[in-house]
Amino acid sequence: MGPKRKIACFVSISIVGTLIIMAIISAIPGMFIPWRFFGVGILCAGSISTPVCFLLVRQNEENRRLRRELEQRLADLRRLADIDGLTGLLTRATFFERAGQGHHRPGNWHLLIDIDHFKRFNDDHGHQTGDAVLHAVGAAIRDALRPVDLGGRLGGEEFVLCIADCDEREATRRAEHIRASIQALRVRAPTGRIVRATASIGISPADPMLPIEASLHRADIAMYAAKTGGRNQVRHAA
Ligand code: GH3
Ligand code: MG
Ligand code: MG
Repeated sequence: MGPKRKIACFVSISIVGTLIIMAIISAIPGMFIPWRFFGVGILCAGSISTPVCFLLVRQNEENRRLRRELEQRLADLRRLADIDGLTGLLTRATFFERAGQGHHRPGNWHLLIDIDHFKRFNDDHGHQTGDAVLHAVGAAIRDALRPVDLGGRLGGEEFVLCIADCDEREATRRAEHIRASIQALRVRAPTGRIVRATASIGISPADPMLPIEASLHRADIAMYAAKTGGRNQVRHAA
């Protein structure tokens, strides 16, 4: 119902209510109200209820607008807290929160991904190029994730994934796929130059007997083995 209709409805109700009360009073012996005073009743009820209803309805519309705006802002804030703006992956805190909710179980695998020699992008081409590489790598990782998987940015040029429900062969195949898709990226620097990235990946099975941090630490050690082994490769935790 629109605001004008609401006002008309409330004013009509107050007039009809006033008339009914006047009629009841008039029916009491000795309290007879002449008909012309009913016109005064309509006038009084209408002139008092119209501005009051107008203010109430306007306030109600304003409250509704503010509530919609608040809900929208809340959704924006939630998205900002959950999603890393540069890579589109989960923020570190949200990754750990979600990973703790049933993702740390047998059949799941943790991947730690670190971009190789990332500092050189910043040093040789500027910080904006580094950001463009992070954005492209984030998109490549997101493309490789299924709805049941989790992917987050740990910080800087490091990413953490939890890939769900697969055996060791499949986990390795998917890690290799991510490594290859990062290697295939061609990122245009603001200077116009095309830069290419590679990443080192450590992989370990989720072990529910250990806290998730310990499980990730094993993937981290494997990732460092990939670094010392020549980078641009996938290594399994021992
Ligand atoms: P390695 O192959 O051993 O991993 O070398 P690396 O250069 O990738 O690693 P290092 O830890 O030396 O450098 C990481 C750099 O990432 C340092 C830091 O300035 C940069 N960095 C961290 N966060 C951001 C970011 O949000 N944007 C950009 N452009 N750079 C970032
Ligand atoms: Mg690093
Ligand atoms: Mg690095």
